[in-house]
Amino acid sequence: MATSSAKGVRWNLNDLFSSYDDPRIEQTLDDCRTRAEALSRRYRGRIESTSGLTPEELLAGLRELEDIHEALSRVGCYSGLLYAADTSRPEYEDLEQKVEQRSRDNTGRNAFGRLFSEITSSLTFALEKDGEKEDLNLSQILALFHEPDRNLRQRAMDALYDVLSQHGQVLTFIYDTLIQDHQTMDRLRHYPNPMVQRHLFNEIDAEAVYTLMAVTEANYGLAHDYFRIKARLLELPRLALYDQYAPVITEVTPFQFEHAQQVVLDAFESFTPRFREIASEFFAKNWIDAEIRKGKRGGAFCASPSPQLHPYVLCNYTDNLRDVMTLAHELGHGLHGCLSRKQSYFNYDTPLTTAETASVFGEMLVFDYLAERHTGPRAQIGLLAGKIEDIFATVFRQNVLTRFEEAAFAARKERRLTPDHLGALWIEANVKYYGDAVDMPEGYQWGWSYIPHFIHSRFYCYSYVFGQLLVLALYRMYREQGKSFVPKYLSLLEAGGSDRPEALLNPMGVDIHNPDFWQKGFEEIRALVKRLEELVGKAKDPGQPMGKSSQR
Ligand SMILES: [Zn+2]
Repeated sequence: MATSSAKGVRWNLNDLFSSYDDPRIEQTLDDCRTRAEALSRRYRGRIESTSGLTPEELLAGLRELEDIHEALSRVGCYSGLLYAADTSRPEYEDLEQKVEQRSRDNTGRNAFGRLFSEITSSLTFALEKDGEKEDLNLSQILALFHEPDRNLRQRAMDALYDVLSQHGQVLTFIYDTLIQDHQTMDRLRHYPNPMVQRHLFNEIDAEAVYTLMAVTEANYGLAHDYFRIKARLLELPRLALYDQYAPVITEVTPFQFEHAQQVVLDAFESFTPRFREIASEFFAKNWIDAEIRKGKRGGAFCASPSPQLHPYVLCNYTDNLRDVMTLAHELGHGLHGCLSRKQSYFNYDTPLTTAETASVFGEMLVFDYLAERHTGPRAQIGLLAGKIEDIFATVFRQNVLTRFEEAAFAARKERRLTPDHLGALWIEANVKYYGDAVDMPEGYQWGWSYIPHFIHSRFYCYSYVFGQLLVLALYRMYREQGKSFVPKYLSLLEAGGSDRPEALLNPMGVDIHNPDFWQKGFEEIRALVKRLEELVGKAKDPGQPMGKSSQR
């Protein structure tokens, strides 16, 4: 098991409950049930009748409902965090499942989602690596696209599409069925188009999303510029799809956790001392679990259970530069979760579209802080390319995914979908993005078939586009306005989910229906690509050797 400099950095969950068998857990669950039953006896059937309810009674009912949800969230959060920190303990898994079952409903449609998960999580890809045959799972095969060895990346991609094609009939059937189910729901609810369900959930109107997606498409050329620069960096005439995530700089300089803490806090402070003050608490009070540990869940997240509680951050710190950005991202969520604690439980969470406002902003602050201080051109190139590719993955690629979904839904109105038809629609959506800057290999028509969002949360992907561009545009406004931007931004975070995103953003001078606003985000991306191009030019200049950067 790898060790990292974050050893010993683990969270303390005693603010929630004392242990998995704390009797207060069962008590809370029982109490919530009793209160929910009483609430339903008191209110069922009375809300729709004109005679029944006074405004005061309705408010009291809502407050009680909010209290019940808040109490349940404490248990849900505790069981979730306990299990994430150690998935090998069966008693933690039992608790997690018990709590999940008490608050879950299951329908026929969900069974197709589970079938999809079972198929994709049981896929095996046989591959020869370092002279040995290995059986890899889906996430392992996808991770190989980040390897420096081109031949390995190519073989990984071949294996991916080869195995997916063998399951193509079933994966097509699942997707086709879910689209049909979605369309039935739309008909029954009189929704004019299939994205409306998601728009309601996101508290946003269709026109704003339409504008956002059109502006994004108009900027695909920016990606072509970058792909050409990357081809030069990799010394290739042209990129193939499996080169997209190849590292441009392969040497890695370790980044200690303590150093990461200092960088994040300093970068946050450069925006406002308030950010430093809040983020410091996470380190001082053990609200972060960062060490690498057997049985601990992979990835990273920030849980903000309720306004009565503080957030918790989990990450797996492996001493890489990427981990510093992840820490900044999750602590950004943490800032948001702390600042919006003045809201009530129902007004606490934001919809998906604005959920990443503080996290991506936090990343930008740290990115700029590092970019100013990493003086070596190679380190800067690595940092910039990483940032640009992250942004492309959340902006351009998610736009492509959403366009594909639209096309699939439109096609399903005519007839049942076949693997060939879906494959053709997928390629069509991708050609617009990659143009002639990236070669798409044989087999890529299966590229749609393992993406979980299409199955579990349809039309979710445009929320990523919205969130990322919103932050880039806000960040640009910060640079233009300087310190006068800070209090407005703090108020935005403090507002949590108390209103629609559009209404919360209005006081900042943001109009989400105006294409110029979204274009601001792309100007920020263009500036990054330009900076990279200049650095590459400089680094290739014989007068400037491509030395490693000096580590501070
Ligand atoms: Zn996030």
